[in-house]
Amino acid sequence: MRPIMLDVRCVPAFNDNYIWLPGLPGSRHVAIVDPGDAAPVLRRLARDGLEPVAILITHHHRDHTGGISDLAARFDIPVYGPAHEHIPGLTHPLTDGDSVVLEALGLEFSVLETPGHTHGHVCYVGHGALFCGDTLFTAGCGRLFEGTPQQMHASLSRIAALPESTLVYCAHEYTAANLRFALVVEPDNADILARVDDVARRRARHEPTVPVPLLQELRTNPFLRCGVPTVIAAAEGFAGHALPAGADVFATVRHWKDTLD
Ligand code: ZN
Ligand code: FE
Repeated sequence: MRPIMLDVRCVPAFNDNYIWLPGLPGSRHVAIVDPGDAAPVLRRLARDGLEPVAILITHHHRDHTGGISDLAARFDIPVYGPAHEHIPGLTHPLTDGDSVVLEALGLEFSVLETPGHTHGHVCYVGHGALFCGDTLFTAGCGRLFEGTPQQMHASLSRIAALPESTLVYCAHEYTAANLRFALVVEPDNADILARVDDVARRRARHEPTVPVPLLQELRTNPFLRCGVPTVIAAAEGFAGHALPAGADVFATVRHWKDTLD
């Protein structure tokens, strides 16, 4: 089977949200991922002559769901999202291992439950892309509003096990700020230093710094590097005592970042 190359449009919303419109080159059909606001989505659909076929929701926060009712009033399309969260307008509740089939596009995404940011958060993975909402961010991860560090660490570990070429489509433009923290944890990491320059150039041109290949995250994102000696040592330095690699390091690094934000 020939691999399908997605064409994913980016719709900025609010201050720093991204609403993603995955589709195929040359097709007018798109899905809408996490429409926190309907207005910019409607403008983009009209401008590009697009027809939505489904809404995909990662979690219940308003900046990801606020546009559902307006869009559902205009388009008779399914609204997929986590079964374990209360999301008005959801028509297709999903749990881990489910798949979302977009027939008009011939695309299928599988559902990963990734609790941590919220208790029912889901990600969508398929065709070389990961739509991860507020679980994994570029060079960072979501805050733990509802889940435990152990849950988030397990969720991020599942994401880390995806193919390295997977393009990470998170829901916010946080890369520059996240990299500042990544450098606090690993000041000598050459990949982080190079990424800081690259991100600064892109932001100066008002370009999104999302998506990025997962490999880039594995090399620079402290929250995916809780088994790496330099990150463990830095976490131990912050905690003031020895830590076992894994969830305890993750919990410490997450708490460390929270104290600086
Ligand atoms: Zn959120
Ligand atoms: Fe958000």
